[in-house]
Amino acid sequence: MTTLNLKEIFKSFKVFKGSYVLKPVDLKIPADTGNLKEPVNVYIEIKKAKGGYNLHVDMEGEIELICSRCLNTYKKDISQSKDIRLEGIDTKFHGELTREDLDVSFIEDEENFVIEEIIREQIILSIPIKPLCKQDCIGVAEFIFKEEKDNKINPKFAILKNLLNTGGNE
Ligand SMILES: [Zn+2]
Repeated sequence: MTTLNLKEIFKSFKVFKGSYVLKPVDLKIPADTGNLKEPVNVYIEIKKAKGGYNLHVDMEGEIELICSRCLNTYKKDISQSKDIRLEGIDTKFHGELTREDLDVSFIEDEENFVIEEIIREQIILSIPIKPLCKQDCIGVAEFIFKEEKDNKINPKFAILKNLLNTGGNE
């Protein structure tokens, strides 16, 4: 796990920047969400702001998902760029309007900010409820057809072909 003590960092810095390679074992993406096989590259930039912090995240990675229509596994790009407002879970809302293009996330302990947790949250948010291997996936029917094509044996068509050939020769 990669933890930052934000309280300590911002005693001496105005902006904090860091690059990390986060391992699947630390990101702990739930198995029913997807299968993260490769590490995720992350660049973060944190600035102290009134009542919290502003976090900018750039990440690069891929996750394996199961298509909700054809049930095939496919890889989804989870690379993204996000601006997130970090607020303490026990700090009262200051009545300040949050910019609409900012997502808000709550941190439990600013002395123990876990990068994997915020990245896990962003990855999970970016995964569709019904993942599709492609926009026009037609589902299981296509999958069976593909299987048959891949195996290059289709008993039904083979019999038909034989019948046609025999018919043609006579
Ligand atoms: Zn599909």
